[in-house]
Amino acid sequence: MAAVSISDIEAARQALEGRLRLTPVEASPSLSERAGVPVVLKLEHHQITGSFKLRGATNAVLSLDSAQKEAGVVGVSTGNHGRGLAYAAKQAGVRCIICMSELVPQNKVDGIRAQGAEVRIVGRSQDDAQEEVDRLVAQEHMTMLPPFDHPHIIAGQGTVGLEILKQVPDVTTILVPLSGGGLISGLAAAAKARNPDIRIIGVSMERGAAMHECLKAGKPIHVEEMKTLADSLGGGIGLDNQYTFAMTRDLVDQTVTVSEAQIAGAIRHAYWQERQIIEGSGSVSIAAILGDRVELEGPTVCMVSGGNIDLDLHHRIISGEDVDVTQEG
Ligand SMILES: *Cc1c(COP(=O)(O)O)cnc(C)c1O
Repeated sequence: MAAVSISDIEAARQALEGRLRLTPVEASPSLSERAGVPVVLKLEHHQITGSFKLRGATNAVLSLDSAQKEAGVVGVSTGNHGRGLAYAAKQAGVRCIICMSELVPQNKVDGIRAQGAEVRIVGRSQDDAQEEVDRLVAQEHMTMLPPFDHPHIIAGQGTVGLEILKQVPDVTTILVPLSGGGLISGLAAAAKARNPDIRIIGVSMERGAAMHECLKAGKPIHVEEMKTLADSLGGGIGLDNQYTFAMTRDLVDQTVTVSEAQIAGAIRHAYWQERQIIEGSGSVSIAAILGDRVELEGPTVCMVSGGNIDLDLHHRIISGEDVDVTQEG
């Protein structure tokens, strides 16, 4: 029995009703021709805050009891989870502090502040930031909300699966960007509850594909984090992973990886063929099709998970520059 069931995801859908955007799906003639099956893009980078992370964060904040809401929430993410959490907390009138080190670039600090969170800059490492979070939890009774390994986060992300089934009822395969596995766990739980024959394929970058390596090892292991264009997919799944490892192992049919060049190619393709500005992590599902990393047999949904990319970097990529972030300081 999975930690998150279809009824948890239905409950999340009701809780989120009217609070988030129903993101559109759009058929992709060029990817359909390439794959030989109809391919539809789920444009979740058009979600408020630029990624699906808002779904889980909103569901988690709304699920707090009144004492927890009173004390507020904390997080350490400076990326899409941080943005989602900041926005979700603000909407619910809940105090939110995101802790980060002095080394976090100013544009990321500004991105979090713009969503209405308090930013607390502590020390010179992620560990220092984590220490401050632990202190806020212990002394001020704030609730730490993690980016993926949490039932309410997983259930919230799963609502995108319900939407996909409604928007593309004949879907046979869903390609899903994969990092810690909150998105794919929720999405797969929703899709398979409705139709167990739907294939769920996780896509990660070759450089630091944490869940992919853990599945191969049969347990959560340490996987080295590396520079990649898919920066929102970086980081491990946690050696003490409670939910997403087991759910991904039990519900996901296959995981594949894509190269840095394939990610850049997918960002380029999205811009020139689909007129979409997407980040590297959001593009790996498209990269898997363009790079022939998957065999597709019927109508396929390509989950485009986020759009928060540095626009200078985006410009260099779509202009055809041979961008290699792995060599940049
Ligand atoms: C977080 C994130 C993912 C991966 O989600 P997990 O739940 O960690 O697997 C994919 N794409 C984008 C844009 C993200 O921000």
